[in-house]
Formats: sequence, C-alpha cells, structure tokens
Amino acid sequence: MGTASDIKLIDEKGIRLDGRSLSELRPIKIETDVLERADGSAYIEWGGNKIMVAVYGPREAYPKHTQDIDKAVIKARYNMAAFSVDERKRPGPDRRSVEISKVISEALQCAIMVEQFPRAQIDVYIEVLQADAGTRIAGLTAASVAVAAAGIPMRDLVVGCTAGKVDGKIVLDLGKEEDNFGQADLPMGILAKSGKIVLMQMDGDLTTEEFDEATAMIYDAAKRINDIQREALAGKYRALAMERGGE
Ligand code: ADP
Repeated sequence: MGTASDIKLIDEKGIRLDGRSLSELRPIKIETDVLERADGSAYIEWGGNKIMVAVYGPREAYPKHTQDIDKAVIKARYNMAAFSVDERKRPGPDRRSVEISKVISEALQCAIMVEQFPRAQIDVYIEVLQADAGTRIAGLTAASVAVAAAGIPMRDLVVGCTAGKVDGKIVLDLGKEEDNFGQADLPMGILAKSGKIVLMQMDGDLTTEEFDEATAMIYDAAKRINDIQREALAGKYRALAMERGGE
C-alpha cells in the first residue's frame, strides 16, 4: 500500500481511474480445456490479468512422505512469468509466490472431495502471464474451474474476489493503481453455494464497519463471478455433447 495522498483515484462522482463505479468488477472471461496435455485446464482474463491454469491428477503422491493416508494433497504452484510485470521479474519462486501457493492450496483443499483419493496428489499449476493486481484471486477462480474441468469431484466451486479501501471509500476489485496507492486490500475466497470463507488475507487497515461493507460487496460480486465460472464449464459440456451427438 502506497502513501501518495496527492494521487486522486476516485473523482467527485465516485468514478474510478478506469471508469468503473465503486462496486463494479473489471471484465472477466474464462475458457476451459485450453491445454491438451493437462487433465483439466482454464484460462482467465480478469481486467489486465492473464492467467493459465493446468491441473494434473489425482495420482499417487510423490515423494511418498508427502502422502496423506486419509486424503489427497493439493499442491498448487503459483508462478509469475518474468514478462508478466513492468520490470522483468526474477524467475523462480520467492516468498510471495510460496505464500500465494500455500493459501490457494488450502482454499482448493476445502472445495475438492479430497477424502475420495487417499495417498494421492493433485497438482495445480497457476501461471501468471500478465499481472495487473488481484492475481491470487483470479488464479484461484480459474484454478477451481480447471479442477472441475478435470472431472475431479468437488463440493463447490471457489470464487475469488477482492475489495479494499481507496481514497477513504470501499471499492470492489482493486486495479493496479488502487492496489499500489490505496489504504487496504482484502482478497477473499468463498465457496459459491455455502458462502464459506476458504481464503482471507488483508493488507492495510479497515474499521469493523468498513470490513463488513467490503465483505458484503465481495459476497454480492461472488454470484456474478460464479455465473461466469459456471458458464465456462457449461460451454465445455455443451461442446462434449455436440461431439458425442456427431459420432
Ligand atoms: P495480487 O496479485 O494477488 O493482488 P499482490 O497484492 O502481492 O498480489 O500484488 C499486486 C500486484 O503487484 C500484482 O498483481 C502485480 O501486478 C504486482 N506485482 C507483484 N509482484 C511483483 C513483482 N515482483 N514485480 C512487479 N510487480 C509485481
């Protein structure tokens, strides 16, 4: 969070730098089955974010000491490509990507019926090709679609979304400047049907009232994001049905 108080991110009419209202999402597009050799895959464009997700598994967990005799282990790996940000990012894992991989693995673990696959692992590769703020929640949203596209049984889809505080106002889905110069950022992962929270982090400060307002905004947007996820998956099954019908 920056402190540049001279940068105005919201005008008198409540319009943000990119023309959005306070509770408006950036445009979101999701496609499934974009990679032939993965068991499931999804590609998401969320504002300026472009992220590819590939899922492999379930398969026997390796090395063996990582196996859980009761359930499958979810191994999500979040990676930002060197060319995904303004200044070339040093390739390879860093503290931030290890943290994001961990919170996304835990969020997916709550949604996948892991108890059906003892001793197995499910790999989820999240490759950020272009980053524009909110990559962890966009990655999580796409990862959940890719897992479903792989045919892995799930209790629910996970929807990721962020709200935050910018120029003293609560706003939905922070853009890059808002993320850099805003006062708070609250990324959340929610199970679509039950509303259960499976990921929550916070950067900056919010009062209890502001936190409630931000959370309400996220829950409201989650329905719209879930519709886009479901539509992407329905597209996959419509295409499959047409293939079968044509046989
Ligand atoms: P998120 O992408 O989930 O919002 P952060 O709040 O850590 O995660 O990052 C916000 C944004 O800052 C990213 O989406 C990306 O655009 C940018 N960013 C993150 N890491 C780097 C980096 N190493 N170099 C340049 N920009 C970065």
